[in-house]
Amino acid sequence: MLEESPQDPHTAETDADVIVVGHGPTGAVLSILLAQSGWRVIALERRKQPYLLPRATSFDGETAILLAATGIAGELDQITEAATGYQCRTASGEPLVDIEFALDGPYGWPDANTMHQPDLESLLAARAAALPGVTLLRGRRVAGISDREKDVVVRVDSDAGVAESFSARWVVGCDGANSFVREHLGTSVTDLGFSYEWLLCDVELRDSRVFVPTNVQICDPARPTTLVGSGPGHRRFEFMRLPGERAAELNREETAWRLLAPHAVTPETANLLRSTTYLFHARWAEQWRVGHVLLAGDAAHLMPPFAGQGMCSGIRDVVSLSWRLDLLLRGLTADHLLDGYTEERRTQVRASILSSVQLGRMICVTDPQAASARDVTVLAGRRGRGPARPEPARPLVCGLLTRGPSGTGIEPPTGEVVPQGRVLGPSGTGLFDDIVGRGFVLLFAPGAAVRLDGEQRSFLTRLGAHVVQLEPGDRASSRDASAPGPLAAGGARDGDGVAVTDVDGVYRRYLARYGVDVLLVRPDYHVFGAGTGVGAAAALVDDLRSRLGAAVPAGSSGRPA
Ligand SMILES: Cc1cc2nc3c(=O)[nH]c(=O)nc-3n(C[C@H](O)[C@H](O)[C@H](O)COP(=O)(O)OP(=O)(O)OC[C@H]3O[C@@H](n4cnc5c(N)ncnc54)[C@H](O)[C@@H]3O)c2cc1C
Repeated sequence: MLEESPQDPHTAETDADVIVVGHGPTGAVLSILLAQSGWRVIALERRKQPYLLPRATSFDGETAILLAATGIAGELDQITEAATGYQCRTASGEPLVDIEFALDGPYGWPDANTMHQPDLESLLAARAAALPGVTLLRGRRVAGISDREKDVVVRVDSDAGVAESFSARWVVGCDGANSFVREHLGTSVTDLGFSYEWLLCDVELRDSRVFVPTNVQICDPARPTTLVGSGPGHRRFEFMRLPGERAAELNREETAWRLLAPHAVTPETANLLRSTTYLFHARWAEQWRVGHVLLAGDAAHLMPPFAGQGMCSGIRDVVSLSWRLDLLLRGLTADHLLDGYTEERRTQVRASILSSVQLGRMICVTDPQAASARDVTVLAGRRGRGPARPEPARPLVCGLLTRGPSGTGIEPPTGEVVPQGRVLGPSGTGLFDDIVGRGFVLLFAPGAAVRLDGEQRSFLTRLGAHVVQLEPGDRASSRDASAPGPLAAGGARDGDGVAVTDVDGVYRRYLARYGVDVLLVRPDYHVFGAGTGVGAAAALVDDLRSRLGAAVPAGSSGRPA
């Protein structure tokens, strides 16, 4: 256990608390989250202007909650369109994979949200610009890093040939696939060698058409093809380069129009925003932290696009990193917390890469015999089955999580992403995050005993945690007025907690599924641990405290002024 004295959170001797290298989606989300917590961020971006060409076309419901945490929830609706489903079809149109998406997914957002990536990036850029804590310097290419233990100095070459340097406590490389920061760290990279080249065509349709389902993968060995929504009015078509075909031939605009024509996309019906070939990879860096320098996003991992998880994974990386850096900068924990970052994120991302590769192996088949064998096997396995629901968000299987009674195992719901439902609280009815807030959450089932001693309560206060007692959906009939607990009914606060009504019973069902009555949830929505009975909450809080090695000084949250 660390000494219970705060580090000085005010780091005026450095130019910034954190330098974020790269202002793509990963870097932008990190800059915003840190600035929202009051930290000074310098974001260094080599491009003078925002990148206007799309790559990602969709994000899942879990990523929607994370994006909402950056303060752009209100605008997301305008740039996204919910996808209805995802099918991989044989050349003759039979579904090999058939997933139906819900508009009201388990995280309070649609299961799958299509978008035009530049629109998302411009929302994030506007949000970052509105935060005084973010200084975005464009036209600055990071060319040197020197970790001096007390601070890190970053050397930058500007387009004008001027060299500058900036210092910070931490540096995070969000500088994409060809990351300078990753090269600088010298970390080894595991490459699965699964790589194919595809032609991407992004079009803006002049007519309004409905595509059912929204996203389709045509597994035709004559030309594996992807057709996906990419936000209002936009659609992406991708065509795999065939063996013996030259990339230069694919990269001609006439080729794009020739391949688009069978899909009723012609110069008369659409604008071709761009067409270009893209070689995808499946690889990850082994070490995401060396000293005070870290990696996130494409700088740390690349995956085939078939599961739409590249950008989502980068956003998960930086959400996971932002609360860790916040605790560290506040002096509430020590650097070891960041070792858990590598382990947790690399393990989860590796699993996403492997499942994207598995999907890719099914899709990128150009040998007619192999395709026919695949169709027979997969269709036999699917016989009689209708569309499936998407898998829940990928759980964490290691890292900063409580362990089961044996001390080693991680048992669900620990590691899972907690669903998000609507609650009725002091300010009205809305999604949990909007009514209660974000951060650590200690959530009690209706009627569960909230027994925490002063030290545990003080620790939660330092963390900025929310202590939440649920009331049943049908409050009048099912609330046990004599149930123990410090929280007044109807959302009144007792100083460190709030009572909310579980309007649709989302939390009640989730807790009942695991037979638990308390959950401790991390700021990235992963369940730290769950339990039942008197003493469960106290045990979880104590465990979190000891895993953080927590120096939780009395009387100060360590937050920057
Ligand atoms: C065809 C395709 C389809 C995809 N579809 C999806 C999808 O549907 N869903 C999904 O989640 N993901 C998808 N992805 C993946 C997604 O696009 C990427 O994972 C995501 O854009 C990566 O974001 P990033 O911020 O980590 O990196 P980038 O967007 O590459 O940003 C890195 C930034 O760092 C800057 N930079 C680089 N070097 C330096 C330096 N030395 N100094 C300063 N700045 C520097 C760059 O200019 C850039 O702005 C897809 C990718 C492709 C190619």
